[in-house]
Amino acid sequence: MSQMAKIGGLSGGGVERLTLSKEDKEARDLLMIWMRELGLKVSVDQVGNMYGEWGNSKNAAPVYLGSHLDTVGNGGEYDGSLGVLAGLEAIQTCIENNIELSKPIGLINFTNEEGVRFTPDMMGSLALKGGIGVEKVMKIKSVDKQFIFGEELEKIGYKGTRKLSEFKATAYLELHIEQGPVLESEQLEIGVVEMVQGISWNEIYLTGQSNHAGTTPMHLRKDAGYVAASIIQYARQLTHEIGDRQVATVGMVEVEPNLINVVPGRVRLTVDLRNTDDLQLMEAEKKLIDFAKKIAAVEGVEIEINSLVRFQPVPFDDSLIALVEGSAKEMGYSYKRMPSGAGHDAQMMAAICPSTMIFIPSKNGISHSVKEYSSPEDIEKGANVLLGTAIRLAE
Ligand SMILES: [Zn+2]
Repeated sequence: MSQMAKIGGLSGGGVERLTLSKEDKEARDLLMIWMRELGLKVSVDQVGNMYGEWGNSKNAAPVYLGSHLDTVGNGGEYDGSLGVLAGLEAIQTCIENNIELSKPIGLINFTNEEGVRFTPDMMGSLALKGGIGVEKVMKIKSVDKQFIFGEELEKIGYKGTRKLSEFKATAYLELHIEQGPVLESEQLEIGVVEMVQGISWNEIYLTGQSNHAGTTPMHLRKDAGYVAASIIQYARQLTHEIGDRQVATVGMVEVEPNLINVVPGRVRLTVDLRNTDDLQLMEAEKKLIDFAKKIAAVEGVEIEINSLVRFQPVPFDDSLIALVEGSAKEMGYSYKRMPSGAGHDAQMMAAICPSTMIFIPSKNGISHSVKEYSSPEDIEKGANVLLGTAIRLAE
């Protein structure tokens, strides 16, 4: 872990390895060396997903372990890397102990899970399940419009030839940090992940009239800032109306002209809604949009709402969940079944083969931050459950 964390390592701790950056290439190169040292059959597919397979049973599809090596800006060293490196270690353990398996075990490092430099996120696994075509992926422009995905992929040397359509798997397992506070607060060691909750992202543009803060009577204002604040307040209220499973976040607010003595003329804000229940999520979306339109109309502010991302909740495979649970139990670890609050490659893989995830605690529930931390003891437990489950699947 520590050797990988040096690549893109930040001076104050944490890691920054944006997709297809120089740091991403270095991390990939290191993984490539490690996979070759173990004697894995290494390949790279058309969108840059990396594979290393061990075992030569011709008829059986591999059991894959994996995650991603890219990070967000100012990110941590555990998100993603943990699943890739623990997967590699699991394979190493099988090799070194001559464990006889009837199915091959494979490792995957997915391209662009984070979606920071290029969107959408989970791009490599989305492409693998056929959710986006290779041609389309190659033409995607970076968020700053400076770079084209296909050109950057080629530049770092990871435009592979392995065809996405030829992918076959018995199962997919991903070990990941929880990125939330639940396991730590309940003092549990392992999260047996049952599903990934649904995600809905909307951006809202509000256009009113910027005007003098002293001379414009209240009843004549078209205050985009006031409408934005009302929407933010309603997003919180909505979670109380719908119940525990609903979460709502307004994470981005851009106010123009952003001056102390001017009525805001234009605001862009984003709303992130998530729920494990798709019907409730749809209800939340409808309520929020209805409210936003109504309050904008009352204030005389124009409103434009764009859906940026919409993923339904993804349930994981029941028998695989039970296997993970059985492994945790057998090893004497405390655990609970739980949903994932964040999106992961495993939710894409669930469309291809039986898939699930294993969580370990995140200190203070912090992730996507240089403060991200999981203890070596917790990492070992997670890696043991991953290995135990993988062996059961491949036996
Ligand atoms: Zn991740």
